[in-house]
Amino acid sequence: MLAIKIINVSVRDVRFPTSLEQHGSDAMHTDPDYSVAYVVLETDKAELKGYGLTFTVGRGTEIVVCAVKALSTLVVGKTLEEITSDFRGFYRLLSSDGQMRWIGPEKGVIHLATAAVLNAVWDLWARVERKPLWKLLVDMDPAKLISCIDFRYLTDALTEQEALDILVKGKKDQKSREEQMLKEGYPAYTTSCAWLGYTDQQLTQLCNEALAQGWTKFKVKVGADLQDDIRRCSLIRKLIGPNNTLMIDANQRWDVNEAITWVTKLAEFQPLWIEEPTCPDDILGHASISKALAPLGIGVASGEQCHNRVMFKQFLQASALQFVQIDSCRVGSVNENLATILMAAKFNVPVCPHAGGVGLCELVQHLILFDYISVSASLSNRMCEFVDHLHEHFKSPTVIRNAKYIPPKDPGFSCEMLEESVKKHQYPEGEVWRAIEKQQK
Ligand SMILES: [Mg+2]
Repeated sequence: MLAIKIINVSVRDVRFPTSLEQHGSDAMHTDPDYSVAYVVLETDKAELKGYGLTFTVGRGTEIVVCAVKALSTLVVGKTLEEITSDFRGFYRLLSSDGQMRWIGPEKGVIHLATAAVLNAVWDLWARVERKPLWKLLVDMDPAKLISCIDFRYLTDALTEQEALDILVKGKKDQKSREEQMLKEGYPAYTTSCAWLGYTDQQLTQLCNEALAQGWTKFKVKVGADLQDDIRRCSLIRKLIGPNNTLMIDANQRWDVNEAITWVTKLAEFQPLWIEEPTCPDDILGHASISKALAPLGIGVASGEQCHNRVMFKQFLQASALQFVQIDSCRVGSVNENLATILMAAKFNVPVCPHAGGVGLCELVQHLILFDYISVSASLSNRMCEFVDHLHEHFKSPTVIRNAKYIPPKDPGFSCEMLEESVKKHQYPEGEVWRAIEKQQK
């Protein structure tokens, strides 16, 4: 690998005014403006850059931008080779800086910033190797993959040797699964039809359109009002029929007992899972809900706001989740998601990534392709979330065919945005925001 030195880290606050049309609205996030802290690593090879991002929902993105600036002192001056020859060490440098770890550690704003920076590093690495990220991971030697993961705090659940064994086993028939993915794609489900702020008429129209496009798995937002939920779930179940799959998502709205009572009343609509029923930190609460809902055939899904690998470890140890929803931008990038994917494999719990927002689909598709091709080797009870918003702002947008993610071919981690989009949506100075400000005056 050429000595490629990172000479600058730029970071911008980019926001899309999605709240104007209630896209993304749920029981807790009633007016999200989908946003990113957008990072570009500049190198001493002018034509070569690494792009990364983390996702936010509007106000507060400026704080993540600040945190990226604080971390950038640890990145500038490093060569890509220095980083990738000891990626575990570099992960720890960022996540365990002797002073900055106090404002985490490995959680909150500083960890979102870590995600953005490391996503950009992985993007740069994949570009240098001229491979899409999923292919870089699939082709990587198992020992090298292991060397990217920080096993600190994990070894009571998963040792390095166990992780290595899983990866070595995953190499078997990998080629045929890769070919299958290239041909067919990875199964997806849609959340685009039933945001909480949508009317029944909107929901009906979007659902019918999605059915016509071949979608078979649908997620509905619930949790604000029980009678509303019963009406909406009944409507969508009628629209999609008894054989298609329905999931429900409460976005952390309930207390534990309330979750059990509420979801029991929605059981007749046969949801496969209830997502984020309660506080995302409440591992034992999730375990109680899982236990109570198991006889109804409803699993518990969570992960989009799970801080780090140690939380996932405990959720798995406590049998608190039946579906692991990794997120490409919440935890410490690919490094930490690899740890979670391998733990999920050991505990035999399917990974069904969280996506949507802006850029989350673009990024996480790489991770789930890796999971199928090199780790789980199974599609049973597995699917990746898809939301059809804001893809047009990306250089290599997701491709969906017959409700499946078609593996990206462009080198990198699919994080690069169109410069024109970034400029227009930069907050608060971009033209989109200036126009909104003018209207509101
Ligand atoms: Mg969700």
